[in-house]
Amino acid sequence: MGLRRFIQASYFQCARTSGILKHVRYKPPSLVQWRYSGSSLYKAVIFDMGGVLLPSPYRVAVEWEVRNCIPPGTIKQALISGGENRPWMRYMRGELTSAEFLQEFGHQCSEIANLSVPVDSFLSDLTSSQMSKQLPIMTEALECIRAEGLKTAVLSNNFYLHSGVSFLPLDRSQFDVVIESCREGICKPDPRIYTLCLERLGVQPKESIFLDDIGQNLKAAAQLGIKTVKVDDPEAALKELESCLGFPLQGFVPHTRLVRPTMEIPKDPLQKYLEEVLGGWTTGPLILRQFSHGQSNPTYYIKFGDRHLVLRKKPPGNLLPTAHAVEREYRVLKALAEAGVPVPKVLALCEDSSIIGTPFYLMEYCSGHIYKDVSLPGLDPGQRRAIYMAMNKVLCKIHRVDLKAAGLEDYGKHGNYVQRQVQTWTKQYRATETHTIPTMERLIEWLPLHLPGNQKTTVVHGDFRLDNLIFHPEGPEVLAVLDWELSTLGDPISDVAYNCMAHYMPSDLDILKGLKDCDVTELGIPTAEEYFQMYCEHMGIPPIENWNFYMAFSFFRVAAILQGVYKRSLTAGQASSAAAESSGKQVELMANLAWDFATKEGFRVFKECSAAKPLARPYSTWTRNGAFSRRNYVTMAPSSPAHISKAHLILSPDGLPGRAQDLYHKLRRFMEIHIYPAEQVLRVHQVSQSRWTPHPLIEELKDKAKSEGLWNLFLPVESDPEVKYGAGLTNQEFSHLCELMGTSLFAPEIFNCSPPDTGNMEVLVRYGTEEQKERWLQPLLDGKIRSCFAMTEPQVASSDATNIESSVVEEKGFYILNGHKWWISGALDPRCQLCVFMGKTDPEAQRHKQQSMLLVPMDTPGITVTRPLSVFGEEDPPAGHGEIFFENVRVPKENILLGPGRGFEIAQGRLGPGRIHHCMRLVGYSERALALMKERVTSRVAFGKPLAEQGTILEDIAKSRAEIEQARLLVLKAALLMDTAGNKVCVWGPPRANSTSLSSCSRDRHDQNGGSIDGSAGY
Ligand SMILES: Cc1cc2nc3c(=O)[nH]c(=O)nc-3n(C[C@H](O)[C@H](O)[C@H](O)COP(=O)(O)OP(=O)(O)OC[C@H]3O[C@@H](n4cnc5c(N)ncnc54)[C@H](O)[C@@H]3O)c2cc1C
Repeated sequence: MGLRRFIQASYFQCARTSGILKHVRYKPPSLVQWRYSGSSLYKAVIFDMGGVLLPSPYRVAVEWEVRNCIPPGTIKQALISGGENRPWMRYMRGELTSAEFLQEFGHQCSEIANLSVPVDSFLSDLTSSQMSKQLPIMTEALECIRAEGLKTAVLSNNFYLHSGVSFLPLDRSQFDVVIESCREGICKPDPRIYTLCLERLGVQPKESIFLDDIGQNLKAAAQLGIKTVKVDDPEAALKELESCLGFPLQGFVPHTRLVRPTMEIPKDPLQKYLEEVLGGWTTGPLILRQFSHGQSNPTYYIKFGDRHLVLRKKPPGNLLPTAHAVEREYRVLKALAEAGVPVPKVLALCEDSSIIGTPFYLMEYCSGHIYKDVSLPGLDPGQRRAIYMAMNKVLCKIHRVDLKAAGLEDYGKHGNYVQRQVQTWTKQYRATETHTIPTMERLIEWLPLHLPGNQKTTVVHGDFRLDNLIFHPEGPEVLAVLDWELSTLGDPISDVAYNCMAHYMPSDLDILKGLKDCDVTELGIPTAEEYFQMYCEHMGIPPIENWNFYMAFSFFRVAAILQGVYKRSLTAGQASSAAAESSGKQVELMANLAWDFATKEGFRVFKECSAAKPLARPYSTWTRNGAFSRRNYVTMAPSSPAHISKAHLILSPDGLPGRAQDLYHKLRRFMEIHIYPAEQVLRVHQVSQSRWTPHPLIEELKDKAKSEGLWNLFLPVESDPEVKYGAGLTNQEFSHLCELMGTSLFAPEIFNCSPPDTGNMEVLVRYGTEEQKERWLQPLLDGKIRSCFAMTEPQVASSDATNIESSVVEEKGFYILNGHKWWISGALDPRCQLCVFMGKTDPEAQRHKQQSMLLVPMDTPGITVTRPLSVFGEEDPPAGHGEIFFENVRVPKENILLGPGRGFEIAQGRLGPGRIHHCMRLVGYSERALALMKERVTSRVAFGKPLAEQGTILEDIAKSRAEIEQARLLVLKAALLMDTAGNKVCVWGPPRANSTSLSSCSRDRHDQNGGSIDGSAGY
């Protein structure tokens, strides 16, 4: 329901006017019975400037000639004679400066008049302020045309002034298109300039009308099929235009149009009702117009006698009992007015449907100024600040209303407002969902876990923004707050956050123009933080710590609303595909903005939990005593609910919440019973001749693990919120399990948790189509096939995916792939059936939009795996790390993931959890190495004592212990940050832990540095 309110400026909102109303001239309605159906044959009206919108230049010429004793007609003759290259035409085409023009034109006029002609003063007259005033009837006509949904253009033969600025003394915002001959280098009557204008308007010649005062300009337009109107007398021309268009060009009231045929209301009973309510002395013709936007609660402007009113009614037809509650709006407006909140004054509520067909209410038409643009152009910094202050104060006034005294105690539910809103909008979003938006999924999971604790209950407006306020025309005083359809009782902070959204929105957004691209401080507008602080001060409350949550919630709500618009535009086919696509993109934009705030809030929660609750860590080191012994890090009660686990660093598996802890212990038992004992057999196989064939024991153990539910544990709950594919663990929870798996090189595969399958599966879950999932994801999840990921190339520094050079060229429904890749893990495994390939579809596009990812069956002709590469001498069979050539490999177009140009984005998404997994496996691996080391130094005797008692052995062990701990804590913190603040933190969180901190634990530093510098080649 809020959707229509947000997108279409609401009916109340339309009930605004400015001082303009005072100047409106009304025609008695009886003179013309306009019945405009709203679907004119015409879609655009094109105006000439001089002689149409502005006074005629020919008249100026005549007067000037008289004043300067120049033979009459001299100027006109110079203007029209002399062919294409006469000075006037060249000036119009921008080919002459004003000085050059005056010289040539003066010369031409002097020849015609046979005396010296001072044309400088003619040009001054032509551009004088008097000549630069648009005719008021034209201004009103333009407003009327646009109110009925037609486009407008000005098509002017104009010129550059001395200053170098073009002469166009018009308010450009009145036109959808402005065409200036001096800028385009062509002028009327050249047909190209009309075609240009039509193209920019996006209309056909027969859908447009052109007004000009020069016959030959009109003739050229008519030859193209444009309807023309000659302007000798502007008033007469507008009458002709009115009859073409079928609606009046006078009587404009801002934001209104003629009543739509399906929305008509019977005038006679309404007039009778008005006479009763307003008192018998109010009489006169009843003028009815409809506010332009929306179909929710139709709203009308009424002029009756000298009264200007607004009528708001329910729409016709069968309605849900709670929908379109005009009675509710009437009630809150009345109560708020009595409580001193500036709102339009309500006059009467009519619940009797027999009068005009549905219940309705009446209120005063409130005139004043509406600021549509949040950057407040045209005001100085002080004025802007004052406007924002006034808005802030009026919001406080609303939130301070005493519910009991105002009789509004039962206007809504008390408490848990945000929780209910999150549920409502989640439901609404699900009902209109068209495709999976990962950010929305994360928000749907994140928001309920971070709900504010103690919420106040006040009247909330629900759609509080600058353009819902009517200001005094002369100062920063709010005369009325409009648009109460979403009002209820709720958490007031949600109104403040909603009010601040504009600060983060881009300025070119049509749904709500934002301030993101503006320097607000320079403009004098308070920043969002200052604005919120101002609110707290006005309300006398301390700053709210979880402000970012409220911002995330506000953007989430808008995203959910826009998703509804998008869905409707798709199903109703109302919007063009471009418009539908753009509203779809806006959903993602809003969701991303919401997630940015969720991330900030995540950081805050994170920082707070480590500062406020220092963790006690009495632990004993892990030594091998038969089976691996458990560590005993004490963190928090294991019975903590799942969401608490996300907000706290869990140092020990004993701190894991119930289910994750059960899985951990089950995994541990499995490792002890089945995996460690099998290592020797598998290791022998790995160095045998048959090493490139998987050992059958692996498949046996996989079946066993699957049957015990120790399967696909890796998929983070944020990618799989419905736990359809994985175990529903958070990154932090899985980290502990991953560490355990890392203690044996064979373990990850046995639990179907090994790379690169894990990353590829996550990619398919997040970005795959249903068909792609069916074909590839399912067999991968079942452990039936394996896969590889082909990004790295020998020729380029592949640590930055934008460098990748492999080409992906589209050809008749296929993509043709060419490239040379190496270090492609898994490529040699005979079970590897899928390659996720990264290449460039558009090397000319923006740097991060050049790459795409494709699903390539490994048996596609043109793929050659030439050799396995080795890591410190190990080939890691049977998966291996392959060097591969792709030569004219053809895959169907539908094998692309997410679409062309989305490869980099996917690569980033793929890296997050995968990095954590690598790191934790390495931590587990290092723990194993350390345990072996400790065992060795106590059992090996040299020179009469165990190694442990020699030289620096103990110090070395202590150092390794400390380094593993550092790395482990770093990775766990990164995993927690991912859970609380989102994957983006990975960009600067965990990756460095991988290559530097961890390396020093188990590998020689020197080799590592060398390897690192050479990239993969260094291994
Ligand atoms: C065991 C193993 C398995 C792998 N598996 C896969 C796989 O399955 N699929 C796949 O596609 N790739 C795989 N790789 C390759 C790996 O992803 C790349 O090695 C890595 O991305 C680095 O790229 P590069 O080798 O081209 O090094 P380069 O990009 O040449 O980097 C060389 C060094 O320079 C540093 N460097 C680069 N740019 C900068 C800079 N601007 N500023 C400072 N330092 C910089 C790097 O950090 C690195 O230390 C694997 C590598 C190994 C070792």
